[in-house]
Order: sequence, then structure tokens, then C-alpha cells
Amino acid sequence: MSVSPIPFSKPYLSGREFQYMEQAVRSGKISGDGLFTQKCHAFFEQELGFQKALLTSSGTDALEMAALLLDIQPGDEVLVPSYTFVSTANAFVLRGARIVFVDSTAEHPNLDVKQLEALITPRTRAIVPVHYAGMACDMDAILAVAARHNLAVVEDAAQAIDSFYRGRPLGSLGTLGAFSFHEAKNIIAGEGGLLTVNDPTLVRRADIIREKGTNRAAFFRGEVDKYTWLEPGSSFLPSDLTAAFLWAQLENMTCIQQRRHLLWQRYDAALRVPLAAQQVGLPVVPAYATNNAHMYYLTCRSLAERTALIAHLARQQVLLVFHYLSLHRSPFYAPYHDGRTLPWADYYTDHLVRLPLYYELAEADQDRIAEAILEFYDKWDTR
Ligand SMILES: *Cc1c(COP(=O)(O)O)cnc(C)c1O
Repeated sequence: MSVSPIPFSKPYLSGREFQYMEQAVRSGKISGDGLFTQKCHAFFEQELGFQKALLTSSGTDALEMAALLLDIQPGDEVLVPSYTFVSTANAFVLRGARIVFVDSTAEHPNLDVKQLEALITPRTRAIVPVHYAGMACDMDAILAVAARHNLAVVEDAAQAIDSFYRGRPLGSLGTLGAFSFHEAKNIIAGEGGLLTVNDPTLVRRADIIREKGTNRAAFFRGEVDKYTWLEPGSSFLPSDLTAAFLWAQLENMTCIQQRRHLLWQRYDAALRVPLAAQQVGLPVVPAYATNNAHMYYLTCRSLAERTALIAHLARQQVLLVFHYLSLHRSPFYAPYHDGRTLPWADYYTDHLVRLPLYYELAEADQDRIAEAILEFYDKWDTR
């Protein structure tokens, strides 16, 4: 019997994407900040409760906007987890910042808040917590350290749509928040992102930086009679075609999230008890956090075990993928790193593996994946 390959991820279309994109084209305005961008902004501000939401062309762009908004200067220091996507650090490196990498914890890939205080110097400007797998970092602890040292907090909430810290939406707790709508996230626009501005004193400049350093947004709102260059900026706003696509997704967010939660729980029901008995790591949702079903991952007991597990599933046409490589050991940053070992970041680099999780993953296929994993562990253990 031949089985069809199961990909790691598959973009889900809710059904209205083309209709809204056509509507945008026919409206005659497909550049940024059109009708659909306004709909998305209203959704984020009124439904999700963000003070100020600005669509960007990517999560990376939202992080780069954050670095510009905070006026990060050469030599400034920014605290970033080592186990993260490259953009978390890159956005600040582009401004000349020195990245001071923070280790993860034994329980969770999220950064270890207990290390923050000792890493702060007079040059430190910001902390950038990443809510890995959409699960909140310990934000009260991070905000307390930031307040004590007068630091900004930029939440990398790229994976964290529809997830909460003690009842408050991720992305609303720090000075700024960055979300991604890349096709591998829960809610997608191909490429797309969102900057949330939680400090009201930054809102005006956010509008300006996003529009090439000009007050063009204020001009289009009729607040000024011509627009002009006010400070350095770039073009961070997406086409309204992107926003039209995104709007079709946002309208269906509840349904998309329900399906992802169901699949996440099914993995957990099948795998947690037997794998925990074999000391394989499973996702831990901290008490203050929620799970937005972005990711189901395992932490294998060794790199050899992870490699063998991936190979075993590949033979059954199932694609499992590992994730980040510690940034402090990357070819680019290793020469600049201060030499501290970050054992937990390296641990997740070598041990963590992600299972396929996407809206259209059939339950029968998911059962096949879980069975193949359990079959692997039966044999691997008795070797
Ligand atoms: C996806 C992701 C990003 C980047 O988002 P893009 O939209 O792909 O630019 C940044 N940080 C984290 C943690 C991510 O998962």
C-alpha cells in the first residue's frame, strides 16, 4: 500500500482570499493602507484589544521598525534569546547594536528571566522576549527588570497570535510587539506582519517611520495639507492585496484556531503519557500562559535519537523538522559573542523536533504520525 507524503506545514485558505483580493484590485487602490488594511487594523485594535496596530510587510519588518522607533544606536546592547529566528537579532544588528544573548530554560525554549539582571550594563537599551511556540515568556518578571533599568521591551510575538499572558494578549505587554503572517504561522498572508505600539508616545513616529520617514499617513487622513520628510524611515507597509488576503484569514480566526487546538490536543493525547515515560520532552505550557496551538514539538534525549526519529518518519513519508540553530554560535555572530556558554539554547538546537501541524492535516494522517513515533520509540529503547 502506498501512502501519500505528509508535509510539515501547508498554507490554509479560508475561502474568501481571492474574492477579497479581487475586490481590492477592482477598488482601484492596491497600495498600502487601503480598505482591507483598515479592516485589519480595526480588527486588531477593536477585537483583539491592541492600542495601536500597524500592518507591515513581514514580522521581520515589524522588528526593524521597533529598532528604529527605539532609536537604537551603534554600541547599544539588546538582550535577545539565542534560540530564536535570526530576525529577532538582525533587526537590532542593522542599527549597530551589540546582541547579548540569553539562554533558554530547562523547561522551555523561552528565555531564562533569571539571567537578565546580570547581563544588564549602562549600554543596555532593550529586552526582546520571544514567545516560543506562541507560549508566553514570564512577562511580569521581564517587565519588572525592564522598569528597574529603564529598558524597552519588544515582544517577538511572531508565533503568538491569539495567545495570552495572565489574560492579556501577547504583543500588548511590552513597549512594542511584532507578529508574523508568514505562511508557516497560524494566520497567514504569504508574507506579512504587524507592529503593535503599546506606548502612546511612540504612535506618531510609528506612522512616520512606516511611511518612508514622512507624515504621509497624516496627509491621507486629512490632518496636514502636504506631506514631508521628517526623519529616517522606510517602506514597511504592505500592499492592500496582502491585507485583503489577511482579512479573509482574520474573519476565520476562530475556526482556524479551533482546528489547530483539536489537532494539538490529539497529538498530546496520543504521545504525552508514553513518551514522558521514556523521558522524551513534551511541550510545557507555563501556568501564566496559554497555548495557541502554533506548534507541537518533542525534545529528544540525544541528537542521534532525533536524527534517527526524523529518518524513521521520513521512510514513512512524514516530514518532521528541527528548528533554530543557536544564534550565538552562528558563523556571523560567534566572533562577536562574549564567550558565555548557553547550554539550553544548544540543547534545543540539537534535541527539539516539530511535528506536522496544519489546518488540513487529516486525523487519520495524524494517527499515522503518532503511531510511527511510538513505533520508533519502542524499537529505539530496546536497542
Ligand atoms: C516567523 C518569525 C519571525 C519572522 O517573521 P517573518 O514574517 O517571516 O519576517 C521572527 N521571529 C520569530 C520568532 C518567528 O517565528
